[in-house]
Amino acid sequence: MTHPSTSPGAGLKSLARMSGAMALSWVLLACLPPPARAADAAAVKSPAQVLIEHGLLAVRTDPEASKRDADSALELLRRTPDPDLEVRAHMLLCDYQSERDSAAAQREIAAATALLPHVRRQALRAGVLDCQGAIFETGGDNAKAMVQYQEAVSIAAREHDDEMLAQSLFSRGYLLGVQGDYATGLSELRHADALFERIKKPLHAQTTLNSIAILYNRMGDYVQARRIYARALKAQREAGLQREQAVTLHNLGRVDENLHDWDAARQAFTGSLEISRRINYTRGEAYALRGLAAVENATGNPVGALETLKSAQVLQQQTPDARLRAQIQLARGIAFHKLLRLPESTAALEDAVEVLRQADALGELNATYSELAAVYAETGNWPSAYKRQTDAKQTSDKLLKNQLDQRFAALKVEFDTAAQEKENAALKRQNEADQKTLAQARSVRHLQAAVILLAVLLVLLLAMLAVFQHRSTLQMHMLAMTDELTGVPNRRAVLGRLDPLLRRSDSSACATLIIDIDHFKAINDQHGHPAGDEVLKVVAATVRSAVRESAFFGRLGGEEFLIVLPGADLQEGRRVAEVFRERIESIDTSRWFADRRRITASIGVAVSVPGKDTPSTMLQRADLALYAAKRSGRNCVQTEPTPEPDLGAAVLDA
Ligand code: GH3
Ligand code: MG
Ligand code: MG
Repeated sequence: MTHPSTSPGAGLKSLARMSGAMALSWVLLACLPPPARAADAAAVKSPAQVLIEHGLLAVRTDPEASKRDADSALELLRRTPDPDLEVRAHMLLCDYQSERDSAAAQREIAAATALLPHVRRQALRAGVLDCQGAIFETGGDNAKAMVQYQEAVSIAAREHDDEMLAQSLFSRGYLLGVQGDYATGLSELRHADALFERIKKPLHAQTTLNSIAILYNRMGDYVQARRIYARALKAQREAGLQREQAVTLHNLGRVDENLHDWDAARQAFTGSLEISRRINYTRGEAYALRGLAAVENATGNPVGALETLKSAQVLQQQTPDARLRAQIQLARGIAFHKLLRLPESTAALEDAVEVLRQADALGELNATYSELAAVYAETGNWPSAYKRQTDAKQTSDKLLKNQLDQRFAALKVEFDTAAQEKENAALKRQNEADQKTLAQARSVRHLQAAVILLAVLLVLLLAMLAVFQHRSTLQMHMLAMTDELTGVPNRRAVLGRLDPLLRRSDSSACATLIIDIDHFKAINDQHGHPAGDEVLKVVAATVRSAVRESAFFGRLGGEEFLIVLPGADLQEGRRVAEVFRERIESIDTSRWFADRRRITASIGVAVSVPGKDTPSTMLQRADLALYAAKRSGRNCVQTEPTPEPDLGAAVLDA
């Protein structure tokens, strides 16, 4: 039998399953005659039967006494054979040996099997198979154990033997749970529980409940498991069942271990250890020591843990419990790891892996893989660290999948009145998680929108900047091309327009006029420089208003203005120049000049030769004409001399 295990993953087999011992004891009880007949038969009860009954009770309090009883019964039965009683005695011994010496247990199985063809109660066959399964289970071979249990269930069901059926369902259900099939496992344990209740075996029902608690523990429902153990412990104390108490205390310790309630765990394991020592229950002692070592590891005392585990190992070697050995190795691996004795840690943990894998003990396997991954990583063995990390992940995924099994969820409702609430809580959590996911998705969308908005704003900003830049460039350009005082185009602007016009060979000639205010220096001198400025502004405005479309002009500098008339010949230039001259002359000067003197200007006109003239030659020629105007008395227009006719062209025409 296996000791009960508890960690979500870890598992001893429970005493509740109690190990085969207990299981067997049930089988034996089941073999006893029903109470009514027992009373009648009491007078004729054979001494062997009395011994077996006594042995069955002693299994729980004094295993050695129970063995002695079984041996004595067999001794008596040698003289007065009774196959049914002999099988029961062998099963009692099988139960005893399965935890101590599997070869010896196997011999009991063989002896019982040999007697089976002669028994009256066919369902006893199921009891033998059950003990055989328990031996395999203790040895860590759950697959073979399961085959035995399956067959035991079939036989008991076929024989309509409720007690044997309850027992084999109990064994199979517990193992299914150990293997992570909680749904079926719980279903079978419940069935076993109902059968035990029906046939009035409250103690067995209680033990079944303990196994249910173990599965709860494995499923991670520690609080529920703790409640059941506490109840079982009370009943066992009242009934004076020492070994059951040791097992339940151990299971309780595992729950506390899972809850990280180290004080409670230490107390439970210590209690289990004391009882196990008192009744000389070696396996229980070893399990309790392993538990205490786990507490020492968790509370920062790996040296103490190793000491404790040394004792546990010595005891474990006296029992064929492979899983216990693996658990001890796991605890040693953790202690070595804490002490940075990494090679020893790796060896212990790798040793544990094998057994745990075979037993499909997912929780412990997961813990072992994780620990190994950490140790390998610390030694720089990255490939192994990666491998074990992957194993840990797969194991925990599998564990989780088992725990979430839909069938389990449905069955749990039947077992646990609080299950619905818990399921609701789980759904609520799921719902909350969904909501959280939705909220996250929403916030991602909001963030995306914000990013898009910001990007759009950035583009707009850049566009605005570009427009602004463009405008300011234009403005700078305009400022650079405008005369500051008068606000009309400056010399650069007007010559800049004249230049391309002159370069175009296809364009016709243009007339250029230079207007120069007469005796401007005198205005400055007599009326002040500001008055001179005002005169310049008024003349500029007058010229601007007189310039017609296609013509353009600008202030050349000082009191001189240049006007360009595209397409105009000398005659047209003179005509337009006269208009300007008259306009200037007619400016109202009363604002500045009390003597009513007039502003006059002289104008020189020149006409370009298309494709030949440059702004410079044009200015020179217009300036010559202007000079002529000044010489001829000012306030008049002079044109450059009419160009000579092109003789070459005339000859060609002829
Ligand atoms: P003329 O009839 O021969 O053209 O005589 P003028 O006095 O007009 O010509 P001159 O070249 O002797 O004098 C031009 C004056 O214009 C000299 C200069 O001080 C003045 N002047 C040039 N720019 C400005 C200006 O921006 N504002 C003012 N108030 N005076 C200016
Ligand atoms: Mg001048
Ligand atoms: Mg002048």
